[in-house]
Amino acid sequence: MRQKGVSALPTNTGRASLFINMSDHLPVVVIVGGGFAGLAAAKALRKTPAKVLLIDRTNHHLFQPLLYQVATSELAPGQIATPIRSIFRNQKNTTVILGEVTGVDKAQKCVIVSDADRQNVPIAYEYLILATGASHSYFGHNEFAEYAPGLKSLADAEAARNKILQAFELAEAEEDPNRHRDLLTFILVGAGPTGVEMAGALAIFVRSTLKSDFRRIDPASARIVLVDTAHVLGTFSESLSKAAKQRLAKLGVEVLLGHSVDQIDSDGIVVAGQRIASKTVIWTAGVAPSPAGKWLNAETDRAGRVRIQKDLTVPEHPEIFVVGDTASLDQNGKPLPGVAQVAMQQGRYAGKLIHNRIVGSPLPGPFSYFDKGTMAVVGKGFAVLQSGKVQVSGFGAWLTWAAVHLQFLATSSLRLSVFLQWVWTYVTGQRGDRLIVSHHDSAPVSTPVKEAVRGAA
Ligand SMILES: Cc1cc2nc3c(=O)[nH]c(=O)nc-3n(C[C@H](O)[C@H](O)[C@H](O)COP(=O)(O)OP(=O)(O)OC[C@H]3O[C@@H](n4cnc5c(N)ncnc54)[C@H](O)[C@@H]3O)c2cc1C
Repeated sequence: MRQKGVSALPTNTGRASLFINMSDHLPVVVIVGGGFAGLAAAKALRKTPAKVLLIDRTNHHLFQPLLYQVATSELAPGQIATPIRSIFRNQKNTTVILGEVTGVDKAQKCVIVSDADRQNVPIAYEYLILATGASHSYFGHNEFAEYAPGLKSLADAEAARNKILQAFELAEAEEDPNRHRDLLTFILVGAGPTGVEMAGALAIFVRSTLKSDFRRIDPASARIVLVDTAHVLGTFSESLSKAAKQRLAKLGVEVLLGHSVDQIDSDGIVVAGQRIASKTVIWTAGVAPSPAGKWLNAETDRAGRVRIQKDLTVPEHPEIFVVGDTASLDQNGKPLPGVAQVAMQQGRYAGKLIHNRIVGSPLPGPFSYFDKGTMAVVGKGFAVLQSGKVQVSGFGAWLTWAAVHLQFLATSSLRLSVFLQWVWTYVTGQRGDRLIVSHHDSAPVSTPVKEAVRGAA
């Protein structure tokens, strides 16, 4: 049933304002993106006398920090994602729309939205929060994308999981042992938190979970290579970076630093003039912001993130906020990092500021990011944690990492299910979701075969 006064995507034949019931005079706040920033903004508006419209191109909020656990079969996709609609089922002023925003008309104050049914529908706003996040960046080498998929969405994580599991299946079926090496070489490009966490998890996966499952191959002989132009966990202190590197070495991960990848193709990669043969290369390096800067025709930083002001609005547009990974804001002379904490705090701030404007309360002071610290997990029972002057690594840091990640999952059912799965995996070494899911299993017989059969008749 539709919320009174707000329809689902309207037809694009009418003016944007037709879609809002003007009789109740409530201001419309449009939030684009149901990630960390968008969700925090919408929750901060729960008591606001406004119509809040949350638009996302997927129907779920995704906990990206645990994507690597889906890719390495520890968690199932449903354990790290929640339908956005269900998160707001009790927040009556909020309507969730599944649609892709393709532009913003600042003059008419509307966003342009398309869904499977309708194209370019204008949706009017009084306040707009753009929280559209980021996607992969191949640093100008888009040709790498075909051979080195990234890790940004649930579909990416499932595809990576399929690819990894498939490599073991192919190797087991392959009678020529000379081909096993290539099939069982896994390369991760980028030694930031995602690459390090993925490499550590993969090492544990092949050396414990898979150890007794194959007859012709020894999964523990798999080669895991982590490549980066600079350091392991470059944003962490030198000592933590070193601790993570040592831990990776202990897990049997080869770390190649100081060289960028020159080539990626169906046979592997070329780095520092040497070819490393592999059938599974995963891109864990750069990210690029969403096109929000282009939609707004606003000033952006070199990466393309929208430069925002201290109150998170776009210059000359006090009604437009840009938050999270797609925004660029300096604090203490340095740009804020693209992490979940920044996104959540910015979303919350934008929601609060809009709330105060609507109800006529004093406005909060300029946005200030409170850094609670950063963490990365390296295999089983080991993490690095940096918070101000505190720098720790080991089991204690890992327990903190686990507690923090559980706390920030969207619902208590996910928290419980992930907690139980982690305990189970920790104790038994077994993983939850080791399925190769082909979306073409039930495809009809292809036309050429049918034609051939008909021709033979
Ligand atoms: C693999 C991985 C691991 C990470 N690990 C960590 C970590 O350990 N700790 C940490 O702090 N951070 C981590 N991050 C970074 C963190 O996830 C991001 O900083 C955070 O998600 C940014 O939040 P956001 O709301 O800006 O964007 P997102 O969370 O990316 O949300 C953007 C939302 O906008 C929607 N959207 C985008 N474009 C459109 C459009 N045109 N129309 C409609 N909807 C749209 C998307 O579907 C998405 O739901 C990780 C990121 C990745 C990819």
